[in-house]
Amino acid sequence: MKRREFIGIGAAALLPGLLVAREGRVKTPLMLDTKRFAIHDGPGVRTTFFVKGCPLKCVWCHNPESIKDEAQWARFQHLCQHHATCTMDEATCPTRALKLYGKPWTIDALVKKALEDKPFYDRTGGGVTLSGGEPLRFWEWAYDFFAACRAAGLHTCLDTSLYAPPLAIEKMLPVTDMWLPDYKAEDDALHARHTGVSNKIIKKNLERLVAAKAKLEVRMLIVPGCTDGADIRARHDYLRSIGIADKDVVELEYFDYARSKYLALGMPDTMPEKKEPVRL
Ligand code: SF4
Repeated sequence: MKRREFIGIGAAALLPGLLVAREGRVKTPLMLDTKRFAIHDGPGVRTTFFVKGCPLKCVWCHNPESIKDEAQWARFQHLCQHHATCTMDEATCPTRALKLYGKPWTIDALVKKALEDKPFYDRTGGGVTLSGGEPLRFWEWAYDFFAACRAAGLHTCLDTSLYAPPLAIEKMLPVTDMWLPDYKAEDDALHARHTGVSNKIIKKNLERLVAAKAKLEVRMLIVPGCTDGADIRARHDYLRSIGIADKDVVELEYFDYARSKYLALGMPDTMPEKKEPVRL
């Protein structure tokens, strides 16, 4: 993070008093990463910001560094040369074996970063996507961030598990141009076993988005041995039954590339084996 990104910004000026008064009062996430020129996170060219913190614990999570709210050090052993002078500092590690996940950003700094690529959004219908982790874990902050994006003329997209209180959905509806909800499993016991939570609130929130005629693209990750087989068709059937068209549903292939991150973070590797999914 560059310190100069904290100064001379426009969002607080665009929403006088609001952000300044609320920052420090609402639950604010640490940020994990910024992806510029993203083309799979909503329409057009986008900047995607990733928050740290998620109430789910999906066994297949490909961003295990995004689950805990707190900052975490990771040590990538294959890069570590065990320097006697190791100071556990990301900036000074000569082999980049050390990484600190989770850094504070202000809303103003994020908006300023996003505005760097506004000409590309304007040409392609793109904008800003908020992902994670789970952005709705910090929904008051997410509301302020999207309100600031809107005030700066930026299209907003929310990548979410929808595991959040219904109040969060109501608040986010007016400032969210497009929703990218996951639908991880139709069978509730299956959902709970592999993500740690029931899908009941997720379905309720999804049905609310449909009732509100929100623009949606539902993502269905197919995890072999976990959420393949009969659950694929059951998910499609449910989504059709609540009025979501097939063209607004995308199946995502599972990859197990994140194993080194589990190791580096000292977390048990829970990722299922990558193989062909079963379709019934
Ligand atoms: S919802 Fe996403 S970020 Fe959270 S544990 Fe599941 S895969 Fe990881």
